[in-house]
Amino acid sequence: MLTALAFALALGLAFFVVKPLLAAGTDEGTLPVDVTLETDLKRRRLVVYDNIQDLEFEYRARKIAPQDYQTLRETYTTEAAHLISESHEVDRQSTEEAFIEREVAARRVRRKAEVVPDYTCPKCGFENPLPVKFCGECGAKLGVRD
Ligand SMILES: [Zn+2]
Repeated sequence: MLTALAFALALGLAFFVVKPLLAAGTDEGTLPVDVTLETDLKRRRLVVYDNIQDLEFEYRARKIAPQDYQTLRETYTTEAAHLISESHEVDRQSTEEAFIEREVAARRVRRKAEVVPDYTCPKCGFENPLPVKFCGECGAKLGVRD
């Protein structure tokens, strides 16, 4: 009993210690716990855009040879295009998921609206929980409907 109490107390303490750490993670530069594929793709895309901007700047400042500039620019552009199409794919998938979820929800509503077979005994009023021909309480014959 006492050990269970101590355990529960330790668990509660651990929760209060860990919780602010998790919350702080999103504000600082550390990787947030709930990073999704979508946000990760966006972050990577922004990094590539940054790289392209830096490259343009260095090229205009003549810090980089034209040939190197062309090669790097092509690499970055290809990567950006790749990341964009990946983002579109993720978008498409989440749209499909939303569609499926809506369909399932609509089907659930329809199923609920369907008439549930009633096995309530007309003689004693007992609500038989299973499809039965005779009342489980008084043995009267039930008019089976479906
Ligand atoms: Zn009955």
